[in-house]
Amino acid sequence: MIFKDLGLIDPILKALSAEGYTHPTPIQQQSIPILLQGKDLLGCAQTGTGKTAAFAIPILQHLHKKSNGNNGPRKIRALIVTPTRELAIQINDSFSAYGKFTGIKNTVIFGGVKQAGQTRSLQRGVDVLIATPGRLLDLMDQGFITLKHIEYFVLDEADRMLDMGFIHDIRKIIDKLPTKRQSLFFSATMPPDIVNLSRKILGNPQKVMVQPEQTTAEKVEQSVYFVGKKDKVKLLVHLLKTDAAGSVLIFSRTKHGANKIVRMLSKAHIEAEAIHSNKSQAARQKALGNFKNGRTNVLVATDIAARGIDVDDLSHVINYDLPNIPETYVHRIGRTGRAGASGIALSFCDTEEKPYLKDIQKLINQQIHVVAEHPFPDDGITEVTNNGVKTQNSRQRPNSEKPTNNSGNNNRNKRRKYYSRKRRPS
Ligand code: AMP
Repeated sequence: MIFKDLGLIDPILKALSAEGYTHPTPIQQQSIPILLQGKDLLGCAQTGTGKTAAFAIPILQHLHKKSNGNNGPRKIRALIVTPTRELAIQINDSFSAYGKFTGIKNTVIFGGVKQAGQTRSLQRGVDVLIATPGRLLDLMDQGFITLKHIEYFVLDEADRMLDMGFIHDIRKIIDKLPTKRQSLFFSATMPPDIVNLSRKILGNPQKVMVQPEQTTAEKVEQSVYFVGKKDKVKLLVHLLKTDAAGSVLIFSRTKHGANKIVRMLSKAHIEAEAIHSNKSQAARQKALGNFKNGRTNVLVATDIAARGIDVDDLSHVINYDLPNIPETYVHRIGRTGRAGASGIALSFCDTEEKPYLKDIQKLINQQIHVVAEHPFPDDGITEVTNNGVKTQNSRQRPNSEKPTNNSGNNNRNKRRKYYSRKRRPS
């Protein structure tokens, strides 16, 4: 199937061909006809499936058809609400790209920056508004935005919205929408609270499921390294200097951790930048820009900041910390292997993270390949001997090196020594 088969108008076909798109992705093949018929849609789709175009193209086509001959002031007729600034900017860029020959105007609003630029562009008039929830409600309260004329409403990345605590904001926004509208609801996962929320928004939706519920990106080659917390940086440096060349996105659970990783990499002469919500929007955009155009090869991100990062040819995702929410793992590794490309996801797992690994493997219903051969192995019971040298636990040694019963006792004694030493105040 090619885009022409979907009954798209010429200005959109021209824009898609300028983008180099020839064939619609599965979610586009399934969603575009439903949306062109004006039906509501519940889409369960992973990142990287092409879902932005799946909703942007039909909305642009509807708006273009209806706006022909209408010369009055522009009213916001389509609203896309998405959880993060990066994603909002990216969706706005997509509307600009796919709609560039349609005459439809779009703009984006998000928090963390001054509002003046955003309100100016709203006052000039737009047809499509892409927004994060907080700034949207803020500008609605100040009277810059009315949702009275909304005909198309998209709630994007609904599961992440809930994770980020936006549920009350979403409810407030829904209350202000006209009842007569076409609604679209996208989520990578469909746990019960998401299904309940979708019922509040959608009429009688058509369902599109591109990946079976809660599965991981199949194209991504996944491995896990058991490594002590203190050795993670060394392992990271080792991998970046050997295996993981190319553009690498590293995930850290905390902002502080992300900064620390950048500092440690810099000491090892590896240039990296961090993006997280403590950084200014300008700094985040700059770091993302440098990463996208290849000026920096390593980007360290927290989950929220990384949501929506869309980089062609991302070669590796490295989970420096394993996420405690297993779905987050799926989102993370979905950053590589986008739009059909294959990618590599490497995860570091220390002792405390083993329960997270278990949850992840349960969710994705597969065992992640364990890389045993690496310079900093740790199966969770790494010991410190009297002379300060680390030894591995017996389970990791080849049979020939396995201790006898005696030395096993020895190991236990050493471990006891280690723990008792740790408890002593220094
Ligand atoms: P999304 O899931 O919307 O974030 O899209 C993932 C990536 O796929 C983006 O880089 C899009 O530009 C790209 N993309 C979307 N649709 C197509 C298509 N039909 N052909 C090729 N690339 C596409």
